[in-house]
Amino acid sequence: MHQLIAAPYADHHLLVRPGSPRAARLPLRRYEELRTPASSVAPAWLADAARLAWDMELSEQAVNEIVLVRNHSPYGYGRASYELNLGCNYDCEHCYLGLKQFSGLDWPDRERLLHVVRDAGVLWFQLTGGEPMIDKFFPETYELAYELGMLVKILTNGSRLATARNLALLTRLRPNRITLSLYGATADAYDGLTRRRGAYRMFLKGLDAAHEAGLPLDLALIITRHNAHEADQMRAFADRYALPYREYTHMSPTIYGGAETLATQAPNHLADREPFRGCNAGHTFFHVDPHGMASICKVGRDDAIPLMTTGVEGLSRLGGVADSLMLRTGGCTGCQLSGTCRVCRPLAKVYQEAEAPLDRYCQHSTTRS
Ligand code: SF4
Ligand code: SF4
Repeated sequence: MHQLIAAPYADHHLLVRPGSPRAARLPLRRYEELRTPASSVAPAWLADAARLAWDMELSEQAVNEIVLVRNHSPYGYGRASYELNLGCNYDCEHCYLGLKQFSGLDWPDRERLLHVVRDAGVLWFQLTGGEPMIDKFFPETYELAYELGMLVKILTNGSRLATARNLALLTRLRPNRITLSLYGATADAYDGLTRRRGAYRMFLKGLDAAHEAGLPLDLALIITRHNAHEADQMRAFADRYALPYREYTHMSPTIYGGAETLATQAPNHLADREPFRGCNAGHTFFHVDPHGMASICKVGRDDAIPLMTTGVEGLSRLGGVADSLMLRTGGCTGCQLSGTCRVCRPLAKVYQEAEAPLDRYCQHSTTRS
């Protein structure tokens, strides 16, 4: 298996190493040199770059075995996320996936989808769910994405991280990051929020195993009305493991426009978001659901493209879809405050469809009251 990847990314080229956050910029001529190496021996500049960036000595292997060279893609996507399956072994009340149905592509279609994602140019690839590690094809999906030259990130609840098969896979082919959701600092809060007895114990087991194996971890602190009283303890928990973390405090409607998740909002954690300054959803990154439907992101799922029938060519429409989804239409039509709005139009739309209280997302909660 390759140790390094040379890949086009945006308007330049990168040399990256699976499992490492570091990247070296490659001049075009160096990238071309790796594409058509003059000799099977790794050039001296590559050995120097590997030593400098990753403190690694290149093995005796032929250069084309050490470096996987990714082709240019006319689609130019650098990142994507993929929901393997919406099913989950927890039953969190705040979950924006709503029904969490267990279904996904069979293996031949999954293989095809991963090649489409690769052909779209994707270098950073997030595997998510539902809980991705309970999907029956998780190991195969992970391994093929890695083999195709993508840097894989996993979003997980951690409950399956300690299994021998997963640990062996992830230590052999290191992911670039594993983000574990933290739902409480005690078994009471954690099991209560996830509505699964023993969930906290499984989480700790997975976290400890991955931590001990030296896998690159961080935490997503999910703060709802069920565990807000433990917010400080959750931060202290992350500090005890010396793990970076981000806090998620805004509960969204479900992807089906359901409002049932909104009641889990912790009222004291409805801090103002930063004004929305635009994003590249649909232009430089995209999202794929369990059935191979590509959308601009996890929130803006309208006008999704069926990649299993269109192939990679279908993605040529996604930029146009993104531009139309960003227009301040529907409940935001003509809003004089849109320049300082804290949410993008796709997010505003899901709140509006769920008839969420304005104070959850819209500045008119203060201007109209
Ligand atoms: S939710 Fe909005 S801001 Fe976030 S990626 Fe989608 S379009 Fe961009
Ligand atoms: S402030 Fe409210 S109405 Fe205006 S653009 Fe934002 S969400 Fe839409």
